Amino acid sequence: MKDKASFSIHTLGCKVNQYEGEQIIAEMEKYGWRYVDFSAKADVYIINSCTVTSVASHKSRQLVRRAIKKNPEAIVIVTGCYADSDRKEIASISGVDLVLGNEDKSKIPYLLFEKLGIESMNGDGAKPATSLHTRALVKVQDGCNQFCSYCIVPHVRSNLWSRPIPEVFDEVNRLVAGGTQEVVLTGIHLGLYGANTGTGLGDLLARLVEIPQLGRIRLSSIELNEVTPQIIDLMTSSDKLCNHLHIPLQSGSNRILKAMNRHYTAEEFAERTDELKSKIKDLAITTDIIVGFPGETERDFEDSIKLVKKVGFSKLHVFKFSPRKGTPAATYPEQIPGAVKDERSAALIDIGRDLSASYASSYLGKRMRILVEREQGKYLSGMSDNYIRVYCEGPREIIGKLVTVEITKQEETVLYGSIKSSQVAKSQIGNRGK
Ligand code: SF4
Repeated sequence: MKDKASFSIHTLGCKVNQYEGEQIIAEMEKYGWRYVDFSAKADVYIINSCTVTSVASHKSRQLVRRAIKKNPEAIVIVTGCYADSDRKEIASISGVDLVLGNEDKSKIPYLLFEKLGIESMNGDGAKPATSLHTRALVKVQDGCNQFCSYCIVPHVRSNLWSRPIPEVFDEVNRLVAGGTQEVVLTGIHLGLYGANTGTGLGDLLARLVEIPQLGRIRLSSIELNEVTPQIIDLMTSSDKLCNHLHIPLQSGSNRILKAMNRHYTAEEFAERTDELKSKIKDLAITTDIIVGFPGETERDFEDSIKLVKKVGFSKLHVFKFSPRKGTPAATYPEQIPGAVKDERSAALIDIGRDLSASYASSYLGKRMRILVEREQGKYLSGMSDNYIRVYCEGPREIIGKLVTVEITKQEETVLYGSIKSSQVAKSQIGNRGK
């Protein structure tokens, strides 16, 4: 194989998998491999798969086939959760060379050298873990033992693991030195951070907010009962913690929540989110919701709609239930027909759009802190602390910087504004409702 051989990777699924995909790219490049787009001809294809639903498994298989078709000579590696759960099925696809579980994905560069019978690929082997992205995912936790009845994850990633605080602190410092402004802490079940070590997510956050050049920290997702008083205190006292929580609801019907093995009621969810909003200024709450869970009646679906409106989420991620082999819910009776799922999903997506637009409209005429990420047409585009897409005009040089924008216009769920200043603290910005 020639020097600087090329590789490509396609990652499916959750933020943890995305993070691990980025780590694989960094490792491969460190050892001299050249990254190319997945649509290009590569010497090595890596499919970092997902199996959270049967649709995800299907997509993973499609990607494997697409890679083999693109270059039948390529080495094809499948890793990720689908590789963990259905190893034999994947290995039986002709053209797949290696099937590696999550635990082994970090070894890909070495396993490739072993397979090729070489020791290096002109890599310098010593680059620090830096990122050019303004926003970087940082994985701090793995594993889940909650066993929601529709989810395969605890069956394939049940061991709880938390990255020690000093290690996370060092990685975030390195990222900041490389230009990162925002870190998004991720985990399979982030709220379980520290469950096996005696520390908690609050302790980790308390340490990270001390990093002077770090612009802001976002939590990828957290369960309702895992937002501790310590986290609330930090969100109210530190400019660095985004006033945004992604709290999965999944259903607004108590009957369905029970069948899902989710440990709260609709009433508890509404009460707790009210309390969080009253304590954390300008808090945006986003959520995941599943429609068409087995046995979901029109009435159950109506309950979901009612709760979604009552909570006033700023964004909804709507998923149609798809039975995942190996989970209890896949065997439940009263599976819902596809057409009903489609209808309910479309209705909820519409409601979600209205909620997002209404939430965004409350910022017209106000100032918001934005992390400018990229150019988009004649605008610069970025996200606010509370996760609203904002466009503004300005020089390219401010890409990667935190700026204050005065909001002048709204188009559906996005906002437009003009830049007032750059690299500001959240406390200097006018608040919602003022
Ligand atoms: S909390 Fe539930 S949905 Fe989330 S990973 Fe654990 S079992 Fe799956």
